[in-house]
Amino acid sequence: MDMQAESTKYIFVTGGVMSGLGKGVISSSIAKLLQLSNQKVSCVKIDPYLNYDAGTMNPVAHGEVFVTEDGGECDMDIGNYERFLNQSIPRTHNITTAQVYSSVIEAERKGEYLGACVQIIPHVTDAIKERIRKIAKVENLDMLVVECGGTVGDIESLPFLEALRQIRLEEGPETVVFVHVTLAPSLDVVGEQKTKPTQHSVQELRRIGIQPDLLAVRCSRPLEDSARKKISLFSNVAVKDVFSCHDAESILLVPQMLYDQGIIDEIFKKFGKVGLVNTSTNWDKWNLIVNSFHNIKDQVKIAMVGKYVKLADSYVSVNQALKHAGAKLGKNVIVDWIDSEELNGNVERLSSYDGIIVPGGFGERGVEGIINTANFAREKNIPYLGICFGFQLAAVAFGRYVCGLTNANSTEISPNTENPIIDLLPEQKTIENKGGSLRLGAHEIKIEDNTLAFKIYKSNLIHKRHRHRYEFNQKYLDLFVSKGLKFTGYSDSKKRMEILEIPSHKFYFGVQFHPEFSSRPGYPEESFEAFIKAAGA
Ligand code: GLN
Repeated sequence: MDMQAESTKYIFVTGGVMSGLGKGVISSSIAKLLQLSNQKVSCVKIDPYLNYDAGTMNPVAHGEVFVTEDGGECDMDIGNYERFLNQSIPRTHNITTAQVYSSVIEAERKGEYLGACVQIIPHVTDAIKERIRKIAKVENLDMLVVECGGTVGDIESLPFLEALRQIRLEEGPETVVFVHVTLAPSLDVVGEQKTKPTQHSVQELRRIGIQPDLLAVRCSRPLEDSARKKISLFSNVAVKDVFSCHDAESILLVPQMLYDQGIIDEIFKKFGKVGLVNTSTNWDKWNLIVNSFHNIKDQVKIAMVGKYVKLADSYVSVNQALKHAGAKLGKNVIVDWIDSEELNGNVERLSSYDGIIVPGGFGERGVEGIINTANFAREKNIPYLGICFGFQLAAVAFGRYVCGLTNANSTEISPNTENPIIDLLPEQKTIENKGGSLRLGAHEIKIEDNTLAFKIYKSNLIHKRHRHRYEFNQKYLDLFVSKGLKFTGYSDSKKRMEILEIPSHKFYFGVQFHPEFSSRPGYPEESFEAFIKAAGA
C-alpha cells in the first residue's frame, strides 16, 4: 500500500431500513462540513446494480441521469455532491457492480490471475478497494466520503460492504469512520419514535462485520432523547454519536443541523485529529448562500413541460438550477410540472405562467404536446428555455408553424419524415449499442457577438455538458435564419448548432447542451438566471 492512499481518511456511509432516506444528502452534507473545515474532500457513490452506468435507466424509476464534465452518465447523487461541494466530480466516482466485474473478468481473460480460482473475495473486493484508493491517491484527498447505495441486506451490496470492511481492517480505525443512515418512524404526528427498524438494520450490518461509528437517524421531528438512548444501547453506538436528521425546509440546512449536534468534532476525534482550523470565513460564505434561499418575497410561476414529470427526482438538476437562479434574484420560483402528454389540445392553460421550460427527453411519447408548447410560448411572447429535447422540438415547431414545413419532425420521432429538421449526428449512424454511446460530456461552444447568448454568457467561448444523439439539420439553416430564428452558438467548427434564439421575442432561448448540470447554489447557471430574470420582469 502506498503512503498517499494511507493518509486519506475515509467516511463510509451505508443505509438501512429502506431506500429514499436521503443518504445522498447526508453524505453530501458531511462532505460539505469537512470541506468547510478546510479539508480537501470528495465523494464517491457505489451503485451495486448490474447496469454499467445509469445511462440506460428510466429517470421516472431511478431519478435523473446526471452527466459529468468527462461524460459519465451517473447516479443523481453525483449531482448532489457537485452542488454541495461546488466542485466537479469525475465519472470514476460512480462505481457499479458491472464496472468492477467487467474489469475482473477482463483481467482473468488476459491471464492476470493465471493459476488462481477467481473469486468474489479477494478478487472482486480487491478491485473495489483499488478503485476507491486510486481516487484518494490520484486526487490527493484529505478525506473521501464513500456512499454505498442500496440497503444493508441487499445481495448486490455485499461485496462492496465487505470491501469497505476490509479497508477499515487494513488501514485501522483511525482512518475509517462508518456512518449508518437509518429511520425512526412515528406512526402518527404525536406518536412515539420507533427504534426497532434501526436496531434491526444495525444488527444486519454487524452480522457482516461492520460496527457503525455514527448513526444518522432520519425522522420527521428531532430525535427524542429516549429514542436516542435506546438506539445507542441496542446498536452499541455512543449516545453522542447518534445524530438526528429530521425533516428540514431545505436540504441546504442539513449541514448546519449535523454540525450543531457536533458531528465534525466527533469525526475528527475518531480520526485522531484535534484542534480544528479556523473556518469562520468558509462558514460565512456558505451561510450567505444558504440564507439567500430563505429570504425571498417575490415569486415567479414556471411551467415545466416534460416527459418524466411524475417523479420529482427525474429532473432534479433542472429544479435545483431554477431554485439557484431564483435565490440569486430574490424570486421564489414556483414550478408546476406538466406532463406533455396532457397538452396536445389545451396549451392555453400555459398562458397563466411567467415562463415555460422544456427539459431533456427521449422518444415519441408526449412529443406533440412539447411542440405545441414551444409554439405557444413563441406566439404568446412567454419566456421560453428549451434544453436539449426542448431545443430540438422548438426548432421543429418553428419549422412547422413559421417556415411552413407542416410535416417537420425529428427523425427520432418520425424516421421517414419529409422534413427532418432534427436528425441523427452523422457519427451516430453506425452505432448499435445504446449504452454510453450518446454525445456526452463537456464540449467547447463558440458564441457570436451581439446576441442574447453573448449577453447571457458574456463570452465567446463556453464549455457545457451534453447528452444527445440528434441535432439540428443544417440543410434548413438559411430558411430558419430568413424567418427570424438565429443560431448563435455552435461547436466543432460550426458542424453543430448549439444555441437558438428569436431576437424579436421577449426571451426565446434553446440550448442543445444541458446547462442544469453546471448550476450550483450561489452560482446559478447563466441561462437559468437570464430565464428567471426575463420571467420575473
Ligand atoms: N432525444 C434527444 C437526442 O437524443 C434529446 C436528448 C436529451 O434531451 N437529453 O438527441
